Amino acid sequence: MGLMLACELALARCTVLVLEKAADPHSPLKQLPFGIRGLSAPSIEALHRRGLLERMEVPKRMTNPFNASRGRQAGHFAGIPFSFDHIDTSRWRPGLPYSLLAEMAELEAVLTRRAEELGVDIRRGLAITAFQQDTDGVTVQAGDQSFGAAWLVGCDGARSVVRKLGGFAFEGTEPEFTGYSVKLDIVDPEKLGAGRVATARGMYFQSQPGYLNMQDFDGGAFHQAGLPVSREHVQAVLRRISDTDVTVGALHVATTWTDRARQATSYHQGRVLLAGDAAHIHSPLGGQGLNLGLGDAVNLGWKLAATIHGEAPAGLLDSYQAERHPIGAQVLDWSRAQVALMRPSPEARALNAIFRDLINTRDGATYIAGRVWGVAQL
Ligand SMILES: Cc1cc2nc3c(=O)[nH]c(=O)nc-3n(C[C@H](O)[C@H](O)[C@H](O)COP(=O)(O)OP(=O)(O)OC[C@H]3O[C@@H](n4cnc5c(N)ncnc54)[C@H](O)[C@@H]3O)c2cc1C
Repeated sequence: MGLMLACELALARCTVLVLEKAADPHSPLKQLPFGIRGLSAPSIEALHRRGLLERMEVPKRMTNPFNASRGRQAGHFAGIPFSFDHIDTSRWRPGLPYSLLAEMAELEAVLTRRAEELGVDIRRGLAITAFQQDTDGVTVQAGDQSFGAAWLVGCDGARSVVRKLGGFAFEGTEPEFTGYSVKLDIVDPEKLGAGRVATARGMYFQSQPGYLNMQDFDGGAFHQAGLPVSREHVQAVLRRISDTDVTVGALHVATTWTDRARQATSYHQGRVLLAGDAAHIHSPLGGQGLNLGLGDAVNLGWKLAATIHGEAPAGLLDSYQAERHPIGAQVLDWSRAQVALMRPSPEARALNAIFRDLINTRDGATYIAGRVWGVAQL
């Protein structure tokens, strides 16, 4: 988000410094298949408008991974698939695709190149540890250095230091599950079901051979404990959820996450603003976080630039919060609604069956796709 915002600000003739904690931008979690990200219609339009979509190769070559194994599946809501065949796109504005698949690593690389072309100063290996603000600007400490700026935008992710140091209230709901994304060898994969399998204890999904997603309704305890994810642990969780004696031979990469859903009550305090996951967190179900953050950056960029140049009418910067906060709140509720349908309880299973029927109708699939792909925001 920081990079997209930096590009928007630099395009509007602002001087931008990006301080990035990670010394090395590369991570297997940003590369396919872990780094797969669904781009929604507003993100596609925003990237296209800046000539950035065309610089990305993955969206051109990558087809929907569900298609091969699951007919014409377009996506899912709470693990319930919806089909391209049911979606009535004639109700929507024609033009660019409504949804594309991208890779986090490539998107970041494209934005980095663009930011550098525009003269953005990117310093890696510098974590913000403190800042002070007054009416004229902000002083930021990172590593053993100090930087002065007129404005500070915290785009530092879910555990945002800027949000915490700034005392921004961060309100919402606690997790119900720990989610796992893992690369592994399963000795006897035939013991597992195909597609997304909801059980009495959670849900699992082999997205392709050797890649597994799981949701374990443990109240988020495992993720919050911060323990290393071992082969033994993954096997135990998978056995419990799938109710099989499946064997995990080796574990190569693993990451955990939860459905904790929180949002800063304010995105703006004095000369400090928040954008992206720093302002809102929720489960990755339905793939909305990146799109939400890109929307924040595009909304904030020109408004902050106009403010910096003294060209903003009264209230322009306030409209960032007024416009983006309700959209963030909707996305948080969208993720909560999916959790409610995925709970391993008889009530949730009954509700899930009703949703399955509705999603298999033209109106149902069109509604879900329109929300997931952000078509309503265009
Ligand atoms: C498994 C999974 C699947 C997902 N799928 C999708 C999807 O399909 N579609 C979608 O839209 N979203 C998806 N998301 C969500 C999406 O990846 C995030 O919402 C998005 O990456 C948030 O971007 P961000 O820039 O706000 O935060 P981040 O990507 O977390 O970036 C924050 C940056 O700040 C840096 N940083 C942190 N602390 C400091 C500090 N103190 N000082 C300086 N720098 C700091 C970090 O190193 C990092 O580079 C998914 C998430 C997960 C976990």
